[in-house]
Amino acid sequence: NAAPPQVPAVVGAGLRVPLVTGERVGYANLDHAASAPCLEVVRDAVDELLPWYASVHRGAGFASQVCTRVYERARETLRGFVDARARDAVVFTRNTTDAFNLLARSLPKGTSVVVFDTEHHAALLPWRGPRVHRISTPATRAAAVSAVDAALAACQEGPRLLVVTGASNVTGEVFPVAELAAVARRHGARIALDAAQLAPHRRISMRELDVDYLALSGHKLYAPFGAGALVGRADWLRAAPPYLAGGGASKAVERQGAELGVVWNSGPQRHEAGSPNTVGVYALGVACAELAQRWDAVAEHERRLHARLRRGLATVPGSTELRLFTDTVAPADQVGTVSLVVDGFEPGWLAAALSAEHGIGVRDGAFCAHLATRGLIARTGVPARQALRVSLGLGTTVDHVDRLTRALRGLVTGGARWSYAQQDGRWVP
Ligand code: PMP
Repeated sequence: NAAPPQVPAVVGAGLRVPLVTGERVGYANLDHAASAPCLEVVRDAVDELLPWYASVHRGAGFASQVCTRVYERARETLRGFVDARARDAVVFTRNTTDAFNLLARSLPKGTSVVVFDTEHHAALLPWRGPRVHRISTPATRAAAVSAVDAALAACQEGPRLLVVTGASNVTGEVFPVAELAAVARRHGARIALDAAQLAPHRRISMRELDVDYLALSGHKLYAPFGAGALVGRADWLRAAPPYLAGGGASKAVERQGAELGVVWNSGPQRHEAGSPNTVGVYALGVACAELAQRWDAVAEHERRLHARLRRGLATVPGSTELRLFTDTVAPADQVGTVSLVVDGFEPGWLAAALSAEHGIGVRDGAFCAHLATRGLIARTGVPARQALRVSLGLGTTVDHVDRLTRALRGLVTGGARWSYAQQDGRWVP
């Protein structure tokens, strides 16, 4: 009779929101893939730190020492969270987008980059120049590995980087990262993992997967906005110009005639110029530490709810789930994110009615992965340009999932109680 494993509690789970009907209902946040709610332990830890708010690395005062200590401890927590190697640097960034832009600026001259065109724009757009190979994503994981193999073989001499997502933010499907890393290795290429969507759902080991770089965002990992990380091999980062020029990145500055002689830091601070987001980084570390202790509970919670969600959505008349791969069958193949189109219905209209009439928050659009979303919608044969995305996480309950399914079924069978019009591109009641 062991108690069921407990998932960490999130802030705001008991929120009530007003509907257009004037009623108040419990808010069902089914948009975890965009940003996850903050954990209660994270909020409490931040509350404790706030009285000691001070600048890191610079002050001799006690508060500065406290902040420096927690900031640097978070680096080690992050290292453990993704099971990085001792040689890897942990650079704090604002988010995943910032992390990939930093990596893009740190590539040695002449680096060839191979990237699937279905990536989130954060992983698709930072790479520039003639040596960027954007390859389409085949219909199976095995074919994706072969496509990467061929693309890396066709690269010119010089350093090579493969960029790949851990889990798609559109379909939740998990990529065969270890197999892709093995192919990269065979070609002497490095591999960078976009872990923005995988890290909140699965334990990641950079060592076991054999990936060189990993990027993630705190706000998807149950911490507040504003802190993320790039973890990975230090050599390219150490050799690159500082991401931002300024204090913290510079160790010594002196006049050299009309010029300035600057000695830049060689550690992670090289790319963390300016006063850093100490509270955000601390919060990110606390969230990672909490998740790291609860993976079994997280996995079981999400597996149950995800299966229920997919069963429920399949009962919505005219709905089709978007899929990258035809070999997605087991629960392990997908994290708790589902995008769908409903024949005859604007996703924006559905999302507006779900919010206004049912207190359910989902996302509509192309999810900053336009090529992926548009391509996958085209495959369904439904004449739409956008999709509806439902994504679950630790804040999700069985009731949220069932409410969503009931509400969607009701809306598509003529059950909207209000009429909606488009205003500035959004549907409003
Ligand atoms: N990659 C993926 C797969 C994502 O889902 C996101 C966020 N939607 C990002 C990168 C970018 O994250 P951020 O906006 O926090 O930089």
